[in-house]
Amino acid sequence: MKTTNLVLLGPPGAGKGTQAEKLTAEFAIPHISTGDIFRAAIKDQTPLGKKAQKYLDGGELVPDEIVIGIVAERLRQQDTEGGFLLDGFPRTVPQADALTDFLTAEGRRLTAVINIAVPPEVLVKRLSGRRICRQCGAVYHVERKKEKQAGVCDQCGGPLYQREDDREEIVRNRLEVYFRQTEPLIRYYQEAGLLLEVNGDQDIAGVYQEIITALRGTG
Ligand code: ADP
Ligand code: AMP
Repeated sequence: MKTTNLVLLGPPGAGKGTQAEKLTAEFAIPHISTGDIFRAAIKDQTPLGKKAQKYLDGGELVPDEIVIGIVAERLRQQDTEGGFLLDGFPRTVPQADALTDFLTAEGRRLTAVINIAVPPEVLVKRLSGRRICRQCGAVYHVERKKEKQAGVCDQCGGPLYQREDDREEIVRNRLEVYFRQTEPLIRYYQEAGLLLEVNGDQDIAGVYQEIITALRGTG
């Protein structure tokens, strides 16, 4: 079977988690979200969670050496052998270099890097209306992707909540951090011949269709 090793790139609120839910179901590959890994570690108050908390609270990036170690450990697990989808990693050039080195050393490579492009003014609206299932991590929006029963996840019945870092002042910092540290990766992956550009400023089904069409041309 064909291996599909994907990276979803894009600013906070672009729709990476939303598209990841669909793509990982379609390709039957694990969804590796570094943000989810940190939030779970914080909830469980593990040593990793204690280290990461202050960075997430302030909308800053967790230091590269911590994130790189976490992702390398995750990618060594067997369920990634048939493919994987990285969501929220890499976010810096050193992280991207580390990912390339890690995969190359294992005789693996990325299939494609999908950049979901959305204008900044749309991102703020998306993030302020975002709601997440505390139990399974499914993503909702108060206007654009409503749950059927108020406050209850359609998929698992868990309670929905608003992320602390989706508050407006933290959102502003997260966007600044994105433009400073992560946006350069668009060029990085363009030069590597891996970038697929997708218009994220359309409805969820439209973005998904564009991704699937773009992926047809990869191998
Ligand atoms: P990211 O993982 O990139 O931070 P999310 O997938 O969590 O982004 O999406 C951010 C918010 O925007 C969520 O509330 C989600 O329901 C909503 N959303 C995602 N994609 C779209 C879209 N194409 N149109 C409108 N709202 C969207
Ligand atoms: P996300 O769920 O992708 O929006 O990430 C939430 C937060 O987790 C970010 O604001 C960072 O504090 C941290 N984080 C997630 N992924 C990374 C990464 N690749 N590098 C550094 N910090 C990260």
